[in-house]
Amino acid sequence: MDRPALQGPGGPHPDVGRRSVLGRADFSRLLASIRTAGYRIVGPTVRDGAIVYGPIEAESDLPVGWTDRQEAGTYRLERRADGALFGYNVGPHSWKKYLFPSRERLFTAHRKGASFSIDAEPADDAPTAYLGVRACEVAAIRIQDRVFVGGAAVDPGYAARRRRVLLIAVQCAQAGGTCFCVSMGTGPGVTDGFDLALTERIEGDRHEFLVEVGSERGAQVLVGVPLRPADADDVAAMVATVDRTARSMGRTLDQNGIHDLLLGRLDDPEWEKVGERCLACTNCTMACPTCFCHSTEEVPNLDASQVERWRRWDSCFNLGFSELHTGSVRTTIPSRYRQWMTHKLASWFDQFGSSGCVGCGRCITWCPVGIDLTAEVRAIRSNAAAGRPPAAGGSG
Ligand code: SF4
Ligand code: SF4
Repeated sequence: MDRPALQGPGGPHPDVGRRSVLGRADFSRLLASIRTAGYRIVGPTVRDGAIVYGPIEAESDLPVGWTDRQEAGTYRLERRADGALFGYNVGPHSWKKYLFPSRERLFTAHRKGASFSIDAEPADDAPTAYLGVRACEVAAIRIQDRVFVGGAAVDPGYAARRRRVLLIAVQCAQAGGTCFCVSMGTGPGVTDGFDLALTERIEGDRHEFLVEVGSERGAQVLVGVPLRPADADDVAAMVATVDRTARSMGRTLDQNGIHDLLLGRLDDPEWEKVGERCLACTNCTMACPTCFCHSTEEVPNLDASQVERWRRWDSCFNLGFSELHTGSVRTTIPSRYRQWMTHKLASWFDQFGSSGCVGCGRCITWCPVGIDLTAEVRAIRSNAAAGRPPAAGGSG
């Protein structure tokens, strides 16, 4: 991936690792500087009762003084007593909506007599600053990097967009109701993969951001922004923030031996049980920051002189997703849930060398019936420990 080099031939850029403090009153100066450097900014904003990602033109677009309350199948916005800019966790959107858009034209073919020509789609590679990327989301982007540009077949649109991202991370100052990033080793602290990382600190009259530089690109956008050098107290406060968040995380997912556990329990009775609740609505896969399944479709014009190929998000919960020449392979909802969870938590290791889950909790919050994959893993573990036999008829 063509990312800013953290370490060039002469060693790391001198500013990488530098920590400074930005006062709340100067936050808009940071936004202005990012824009002056040529980036459009996208980040968290309140829309339709949720914190979603959209254009940020001014700091008033941010969810100032809002927080989210999440539980399985539940999401509510509430007012905070302070004016925190990043006092929430993650919402229904993830950064994949920019890097891997839900619908994207790939190319257009034009008929020319008995032949045809193809116009490739120009890449939308406008430099873009992603403001407010959480640790689990940095991990999710790293996973999608592996999928889209880490192998022999490179997705040109993803690669072009990814190359021009200025990634501004934010340390989580509270755990969300459905998060379990600690179990997945993906958070809550952001340790690398960012251009800048912010830690918001609100104590009494103090409202500041500790700013850590992660790349030369990040250092460049700080030029001219009023900062003071961070002292030991500032750094200790950042460490304490991340520690507190980690300690308050309510959910866990035991990853110990999970690959063999899940793939060895394909007939576990839990698949049938969860399949009775699952609506196959696909919400979990749409909200998941790592799910990348998609379909392509050809869209001809009326006189068939031109056809466009579009890619759109698809889901392994859709009946048609496993359609082969004789029909769908996974005809039942239990088999589709099993496919999703065993891929995400087990066979993803075989395919990409890591789990496909970063513990963001979105699939739990946005499941309309509150299905919780951490509870599903626990149920399968307990069935395995008890030696429970498969359900009659299995889940195929
Ligand atoms: S599977 Fe669920 S918790 Fe894991 S990354 Fe996807 S949405 Fe987040
Ligand atoms: S697990 Fe929940 S969100 Fe996912 S398809 Fe089933 S009902 Fe929908």
